[in-house]
Amino acid sequence: MKTALVTGGNRGIGEQVCRALARAGWDVLLTARDPDRGEAAAARLRRETGGGVRFVPLDVTSAGSIADLVSVLHREGIRLDALVNNAGISGAPRGRAGARRTLETNFFGPLRVTEALLRFLNDGATITNVTSGLGALARLSPRGRRELGDPALTRERLAALMEDCAGTGAHGWGADAYGVSKAGLNALTRILARDLAPRRIRVNATCPGWVRTDMGGRHAPRSVQDGAASVLFGVTVPEAGPTGKVLRDGREIEP
Ligand code: NAP
Repeated sequence: MKTALVTGGNRGIGEQVCRALARAGWDVLLTARDPDRGEAAAARLRRETGGGVRFVPLDVTSAGSIADLVSVLHREGIRLDALVNNAGISGAPRGRAGARRTLETNFFGPLRVTEALLRFLNDGATITNVTSGLGALARLSPRGRRELGDPALTRERLAALMEDCAGTGAHGWGADAYGVSKAGLNALTRILARDLAPRRIRVNATCPGWVRTDMGGRHAPRSVQDGAASVLFGVTVPEAGPTGKVLRDGREIEP
């Protein structure tokens, strides 16, 4: 039996990813920051799928919450075959406070969660970072494009760049904080893929497209099932499949 951990699993694309994995026979750790909504989602999915869906609390912006999650995994000897960094926000107000919140959730959250969970991932596992077409390098300023596209970029330098973006309210980056956070997540994907190749862990960024969720709104063209299916390509990518790439519907797109 394979085990997946999904962040932001209580609604939207994350919930649908949990549902699809449970239907496919995975054990699912559905994480969410609000315990009531998280428990309710896990119970709903158990009822619908008959699968093993369990709620574990996780606010990806809280070091304490990440540490509590680590304690649960450690205490129970849980090993992971897939990590899905899905939790995200958009639409925070422009300016420094909004940029900080966006970067903390969409970039530093996945970075810290991934680093904390690396020791629980089995060799050959997958990490899937849920990105957006709005994170394309082409949308950034020339400097942003050069820095984030640099093949020699390190995790430390990338984190410093995202700090810069948060500190300046994304001023001078050419895109809003949401776009920069996802461009940073794409760059992180590339770096992690390189670092984790010796463990045969494949790391990809998957774009769900524009999806009808609370975030995407009701006029979005894609269903939550279509969006989740695009994310699931990253979870089930074969051993010889892509790593370090940005994918939509299983096909590589411009990072
Ligand atoms: P959504 O319906 O707004 O759901 C977002 C999820 O993230 C919720 O479960 C939310 O939990 C969770 N979340 C937010 N902040 C969190 C935190 N600090 N800690 C833990 N969980 C947190 O959005 P969605 O459309 O499903 O989006 C899922 C992912 O797809 C995001 O990364 C988004 O950027 C990406 N994406 C979406 C679209 C689209 O059109 N919908 C397009 C491109 C990319 P709460 O219920 O507690 O708020």
